[in-house]
Amino acid sequence: LIELREVNKYFGALHVLRDIDLSVGRGEVVVVIGPSGSGKSTLCRTINRLEAIDSGTITIDSIPLPEEGKELARLRADVGMVFQSFNLFAHKTVLANVMLAQLKVRGRTKQEAERRARELLDRVGLVTQAEKYPAQLSGGQQQRVAIARALAMDPKAMLFDEPTSALDPEMINEVLEVMRQLARDGMTMVVVTHEMGFARYAANRVVFMDGGRIVEDRPPDEFFAAPSTERAKDFLSKIL
Ligand code: ATP
Ligand code: MG
Repeated sequence: LIELREVNKYFGALHVLRDIDLSVGRGEVVVVIGPSGSGKSTLCRTINRLEAIDSGTITIDSIPLPEEGKELARLRADVGMVFQSFNLFAHKTVLANVMLAQLKVRGRTKQEAERRARELLDRVGLVTQAEKYPAQLSGGQQQRVAIARALAMDPKAMLFDEPTSALDPEMINEVLEVMRQLARDGMTMVVVTHEMGFARYAANRVVFMDGGRIVEDRPPDEFFAAPSTERAKDFLSKIL
């Protein structure tokens, strides 16, 4: 579903992504881990074309990502993204946040958008909070709204960039549970996270990045039992 071939990306002289080859099949959950600055966020952002690449190809459903224009907006809507910071519209209710892009990007009627929004808020356990404003919710609740908002585009895949890193410990699990449920429902997911429990039990593959390269790409049981590179061993010894 998502294919990266020989992708390279520079920030000025800094070579942030080096010859990245990555395939994510339909329904697959790929967890991306690696040290700070290794290029994990940049990888997510290039998949969504929030960052342009310098060479290589990225295809979604065999369609190459266009550089700009309408087509890009549509493709971007096909790949939902959830960030560490929830980026909800503060002056809109939870319901309006989940409706907005449906109206603007998907061209749905208000009625359709509201029905879908309430359905998704129910799925993330927040249907009773629909009329509240983001500031009235906890961080974990806001992040679940952000997930519902991304899902409202009916994306083919979802990218998560450290979705629980800004949350208090007691809220991490409610967000991970929503993500585990999504995975069980067959959503294609790329997840950057330090939550090794999620990697172990929800991922089909663990991708370990270091210095802009994919150093390992293996099933979690293999990876955690015996990382094949010193760098991954070293990284795991620091975080586990
Ligand atoms: P972290 O675990 O800290 O989130 P990361 O693996 O997500 O790190 P990236 O954010 O992808 O790493 O950054 C990779 C490298 O690119 C870093 O050296 C970073 O400083 C640099 N970088 C990221 N964004 C930009 C930018 N907009 N302009 C210049 N350099 C950038
Ligand atoms: Mg990052």
